[in-house]
Amino acid sequence: MEKTFLFRWNWKQWLILASVVCILCITVVDAFGRGGGGSRSRSRGGSSWSKGGGSSWGGGGSRGGGSSYSGGGGSYLGKNSPIIVAAFLVFIVLLYVTGKMMEKREQKLKSTHKTASSNKNPIKYKNLDPNFSKTVFLDWVHLLYNQVWTSIGKNEFKNLSPFVYNSENFSIRSYDDEHVTQQNRKGNTTEIVIAKLAIKQVYQDEQTDNIIVEIFANHTYQEPGKKAERVLTEELWTFSRKKGILSKEPKEMQELSCPNCGAAHSLNDAGACNYCNTIVAPGNQQWQLVSAYIDYQESEPDKPFGEYAEEVGTDYPTVFSPSLEQEIQQLNSIDPNATQVVPVIFTTLQQAWTNNDLKQLRMITTDNLYKSYEYWINNYKKHGVRNVLEQIKITKEELVKVEVDKFYTAFTSRIHASMIDYTVDKTGKVLGGSKTKPRPFTEYWTFIRANSASKTASQYSVTACPNCGAKLQVAASGVCEYCHTKISNGSHNWILANITQDEVYTG
Ligand SMILES: [Zn+2]
Ligand SMILES: [Zn+2]
Repeated sequence: MEKTFLFRWNWKQWLILASVVCILCITVVDAFGRGGGGSRSRSRGGSSWSKGGGSSWGGGGSRGGGSSYSGGGGSYLGKNSPIIVAAFLVFIVLLYVTGKMMEKREQKLKSTHKTASSNKNPIKYKNLDPNFSKTVFLDWVHLLYNQVWTSIGKNEFKNLSPFVYNSENFSIRSYDDEHVTQQNRKGNTTEIVIAKLAIKQVYQDEQTDNIIVEIFANHTYQEPGKKAERVLTEELWTFSRKKGILSKEPKEMQELSCPNCGAAHSLNDAGACNYCNTIVAPGNQQWQLVSAYIDYQESEPDKPFGEYAEEVGTDYPTVFSPSLEQEIQQLNSIDPNATQVVPVIFTTLQQAWTNNDLKQLRMITTDNLYKSYEYWINNYKKHGVRNVLEQIKITKEELVKVEVDKFYTAFTSRIHASMIDYTVDKTGKVLGGSKTKPRPFTEYWTFIRANSASKTASQYSVTACPNCGAKLQVAASGVCEYCHTKISNGSHNWILANITQDEVYTG
């Protein structure tokens, strides 16, 4: 709070304060302590909202820029008076110049911010453009999320320049001012698991389309010589692009491909695409990340296995889409048996989990979901632990939502189930859960399938490649090792894309 107060002083007030301080210094030479304070430079926050990236939270940071003028040559003071007078004069001149610059900058920021916020026009993502697909977009966000977190602070971050606004000075801002910056990120971020990825808000202003995405995730962070910690974050990421652009086709969104030519993303030293030789200005042809903000964060030490949190939300009322009836008709016209995959995939997943069977999980899940299972299962294996699920029973299934866009169909079912759930170590000792008492729970499961897919739910198999029929031949990348087609994006048949807990599902 005190900091904010200091930052709110305008440069003229600073000038008067500095003059008074300097005169005092000259008079009481030896008693001089550092004046001013507020020398903390706040990671260039201003830039994130000059783009109008919906960051109403971005506020205060913008004023931080001016703080560079505090302090100055304080340490010389007190030796002899000519130096003091010279330093004093330089100081005043510097202060005046910086002050003027700050004033201009503030005015500019104020006006930009005003235009951006006053013309914010909320719209539905379905109305962005005919090619916009939530499934495809969020998958792309997931890719970028991984890249940003694993490469921030490292040289390779520059490769993200076509997708990140002002990538050289980019920082992941935080509610507690502990921003993650290119400069202060010294360690490695690994094992990223995303628990929630959802579009929170979509709006347009005069020049841009903007999407705010809510991301709940956790990752492992380790600095050299320090203990690794597991960090949980809740983040808001704002994406923006020039208004009126047609979204890229799914195949160009499956990786961070060059927004200009669509080639696999690789940049030369000058920052140009190795294929089309273009330096891509972010936001002109593809979405760009304009701000990443950590809304909440918590670090937790490694949790012991077998610790069971109490099940929350099982008795919550089911959240149905308001236009469900219409949506069901739409689903019926696309694949009338679609929901048949729900119990099949549900049971298979629980069995695969029990057996730490990644190969089986790979057949039925999208890349993103698979990644989180891979993390947990590897962790279990490393510690010789198994989470056993038995007597799996679905007690009720409710189709709650269907979404169809140009490229994908997605449907969500709330599954009410119960099972025996306990965790054992290598010797069979029960670490947690119960071997006798079934645990009831409910979850929202979302399945996706490309509209161009050749197979339907009635032809679904949990072991065979939907394209060539090869058994359990899918590599960790989601590509069938036999026919080399990617199946983990639902391009041939249904696949499980998401599991959302009752307490976070909002429809
Ligand atoms: Zn290119
Ligand atoms: Zn195949």
